[in-house]
Amino acid sequence: MQYRCPKCQSVKIMPVSQGTNSPRPNVPKSLVLLVPAIFILLILVVISIGMWIFGNGAGQTLQISTVVVFAVCVIAGVLFWRDLPDFKISMQAFMQAQKHWKCRDCNHEWQN
Ligand SMILES: [Zn+2]
Repeated sequence: MQYRCPKCQSVKIMPVSQGTNSPRPNVPKSLVLLVPAIFILLILVVISIGMWIFGNGAGQTLQISTVVVFAVCVIAGVLFWRDLPDFKISMQAFMQAQKHWKCRDCNHEWQN
């Protein structure tokens, strides 16, 4: 099974909703936690750098929050790493169950 557009061979394909009983991949909770945690960490780091450049350094609250969010990222990262094999299987099952695809390059729609 190939995940390419049959028309233009692009790999930029996306699943088209098959209605209410469409299969969904089992997204692990660790990933749900990890993505926003990394996002918040990036924002905090950018703010800290900004404060170091334009001010007298990052405030203590900001430093503590950065450390806390960093710890959350590490924990979520470890949990996700453990969930990864299950997540891969779940994603593969989803890709195989998904019959209806759409190409983002040429808007071609097809069914496997
Ligand atoms: Zn295409």
